[in-house]
Amino acid sequence: MKSLLAVLFLCLTVSTAAAGEPSYGAPPADLAEHLERLKRAYPGVIADYDKAKLTLKSGVTIPMSDGRRDKSFDELLDDPDVDDMFAIPYPAHTKPKAPGVNVDPGRVRVEALFRALYGDCRKGEAALRMRRVPWFGGSVLITTRQGVDRALEATARDLAKLPKPMMKYLAPSAGTYNCRAIAGTQRLSMHAYGASIDLNTEFADYWRWRKPGKDGKIAWTNRMPMEIVEIFERHGFIWGGRWYHYDTMHFEYRPELLAR
Ligand SMILES: [Zn+2]
Repeated sequence: MKSLLAVLFLCLTVSTAAAGEPSYGAPPADLAEHLERLKRAYPGVIADYDKAKLTLKSGVTIPMSDGRRDKSFDELLDDPDVDDMFAIPYPAHTKPKAPGVNVDPGRVRVEALFRALYGDCRKGEAALRMRRVPWFGGSVLITTRQGVDRALEATARDLAKLPKPMMKYLAPSAGTYNCRAIAGTQRLSMHAYGASIDLNTEFADYWRWRKPGKDGKIAWTNRMPMEIVEIFERHGFIWGGRWYHYDTMHFEYRPELLAR
């Protein structure tokens, strides 16, 4: 009886650990498709890819995989390789719902790639080549690299066709370019590349603004209408409301994660 209890106890602790701390690092089955989409999304920067690496037009190569298949969630964010960026699929054009623990599709970014795409703001803003784009009664500063400015203008044109009560969510924008690390981390935010936009903070929900529940889990909440999300996704922007660590006013240009 004692040994049966011991086995039961062991099973319980093992399964709890596995549920609380999933491991990442195995390449997704459809990796080739993701890589093709990545190359097509940034034709001016990415020359080619193979099983071992991504080759940039500058000649720089970025390793495809570090061979690790046992990464924790924090390691996935802090030290990702190229195939890790596609480990969690982005559920584009679907009804929003509370994501599972640590399901943050799009938050895994290989910094070397993004610095190549947009430049490093810490070395000066000029490299980012930004311009002002009109935004619902004001304007926002956005990068012209990778066509992000044109994608945002196209987004704005479609958003302007929405019914009037939707406009309050869009402006004033809580920010676009900001040379900073992600709160609580050393990693550069997509705002540091001028490739993302925050909408009106008055209607925003953000995981850090809420205490976790009694079970330690973050309770997902959202007020952003899906009509708005749908338009952004159509133009290549992913939405922070689809993350377990949600940030519902946040949209960033990641066409490689969106099937067109
Ligand atoms: Zn943001």
